[in-house]
Amino acid sequence: MSFKSLGLKEALIKAVEEKGYTKPSPIQEKAIPHILEGKDILASAQTGTGKTAGFTLPVLQYLSDTKHPKYRPLRALVLTPTRELAAQVYDNVREYSKYVNIKSAVVFGGVNAKPQIATLKSGVDILVATPGRLLDLHDQKAVSFKRIDVLILDEADRMLDMGFVRDINKLISFMPEKRQNLMFSATFSKDIKKLAEGILRNPVSVETAPQNSTAKKVTHKVFKVDKNKKTEFTIKLIKDNNWNQVLIFTRTKHGANKLTEKLIKAGISAAAIHGNKSQGARTKALKNFKDNSIKILVATDIAARGLDIPLLPHVINFELPNVPEDYVHRIGRTGRAGAAGEAISLVCSEETEYQNEIEKLLNEKLKSNIVEGFEPTDTAPPKRAASQSKGSFGKKKRPGNSNSSEGNKAKRKPHFKGNKPTSTSGRGRTGAPKKKRF
Ligand code: ADP
Ligand code: MG
Repeated sequence: MSFKSLGLKEALIKAVEEKGYTKPSPIQEKAIPHILEGKDILASAQTGTGKTAGFTLPVLQYLSDTKHPKYRPLRALVLTPTRELAAQVYDNVREYSKYVNIKSAVVFGGVNAKPQIATLKSGVDILVATPGRLLDLHDQKAVSFKRIDVLILDEADRMLDMGFVRDINKLISFMPEKRQNLMFSATFSKDIKKLAEGILRNPVSVETAPQNSTAKKVTHKVFKVDKNKKTEFTIKLIKDNNWNQVLIFTRTKHGANKLTEKLIKAGISAAAIHGNKSQGARTKALKNFKDNSIKILVATDIAARGLDIPLLPHVINFELPNVPEDYVHRIGRTGRAGAAGEAISLVCSEETEYQNEIEKLLNEKLKSNIVEGFEPTDTAPPKRAASQSKGSFGKKKRPGNSNSSEGNKAKRKPHFKGNKPTSTSGRGRTGAPKKKRF
């Protein structure tokens, strides 16, 4: 199968060939023909399987074939849950559209809205955006959705987790009824199917990997270790093995900061990436990690979602996620593009229940290891499993607890309260972080 036989035009094929793609990935093979036919689709495939090109290429083809010679109303919109993902998708859109006459742009929060408004005014065919900032801009009449032909929801499962459904529905209420809808997700949950029912019309379902399956070449390793020994153990792992590029997941922003500090103290270059960091710091951390000028990136689940960090040999779960699906997303960062990878989890006694939940989801037992000098002595009782904790936990927790995970926080907080956009609130360029939105 070739890009040509999928029905894509030469100008697009030339651009992907320059990216080094020689043939379409399985999800691209399955999704592109349906999208070119104008159908709605609900597509699921593992992280790192090329979903972005899967929707971008056919949409670019549609846009360039139907472009009005004079006007450039916004006709395609890609919504993503996080700023980093928006930036990444936009980079791809730009690369793929190199040889077609299509203008693209990206907007997200945490940065000055003025240049975004100016870009939108100048005319854009396809826009990549995070929901919150886009609503702000729409409120300011900087953008119109009246001519939207194609709506793409990328990482839809994460948008659900982050509580963006209301924002999305509000955005959709400004769009024409008749449009094509494409929904992409790494996993197909019941909630995703429900969301899809509300948005998609007679969608074709496209799936390339068994539900919630993890990349085949990833080995899972669990180390049983006491909670208060985890930092020391992590440092030992990195030093003993001489690892040069490791993504570490923590459950909380605070935990990410603390671990990063300790790593740096131990002489290991590291940076943290999470929702409380300024956009500049996040972009810089990611760039430094990608070009290997730092060895370790410590991230929360939400910050890391969907990021394309190629060929990551090791992922460490400093803590297990309390939502088992997050484990699948996390380890999707390793063993990408067919390369082998290792997913390491440090599990203390209170996390046993999380491990059980993960094993259930994977339908696989994770082998436990104990390392000399780090034999577990803790006997703290296991925490309740994610499925039970979701409802009751949230209500009891004090609001504003900086230790709470971003995901749950996002879920608890109503998202759009008509807050003033950054540019007019006098908070200036770096002012937004208090009212965090991805
Ligand atoms: P996903 O959204 O499914 O997680 P991405 O769209 O981020 O995956 O793509 C993952 C990586 O694979 C990117 O580096 C991208 O450039 C690359 N890629 C996409 N399509 C192809 C292809 N057909 N051949 C080779 N590499 C590809
Ligand atoms: Mg993606």
